[in-house]
Amino acid sequence: MIIFGTKARYKTVDSGEFFCPSCQKTRQYERKQGKNYFSLYFVPVIPMGDAGEFIECQTCGRSYHPDVLKQRLSKPQPDVARLLNTVKSRLENGYPVEYMIRDLTDDGLDRDVALNTVQMAIGRQRCQCPNCDLTYAVSVQRCADCDRTLREVQER
Ligand SMILES: [Zn+2]
Ligand SMILES: [Zn+2]
Repeated sequence: MIIFGTKARYKTVDSGEFFCPSCQKTRQYERKQGKNYFSLYFVPVIPMGDAGEFIECQTCGRSYHPDVLKQRLSKPQPDVARLLNTVKSRLENGYPVEYMIRDLTDDGLDRDVALNTVQMAIGRQRCQCPNCDLTYAVSVQRCADCDRTLREVQER
């Protein structure tokens, strides 16, 4: 008996980072491209056209339509702008930089990303409390913790 049929084979054509709707986080993805093959005894022998593409999350293993990658470009932008605004206004209203970074990392940001976010919001200049060493945006006058007058420092 001759066993034949069609079989799709997928290969990875691209990879990178995307926002996985299932994980709700930035994850590694692989873009898989499929070709249909006419197969004989389960061995693909003749290519028979495209079987389509999908995006596979390397963490949860779910697959998505390739359109899911467009969210990476369009969706996080307003969130970043909003986050920067929040961070900037809280810091300029006297919230210590160290507490802000702790809050951001508690929210799931990497420490490097949190540091960058703070830097994008208020620049590299800092004021520091001579008593408890907490640092602040330069526009802040007094320490929120101990009410000392702050001195200006250049962040290392
Ligand atoms: Zn996932
Ligand atoms: Zn202080």
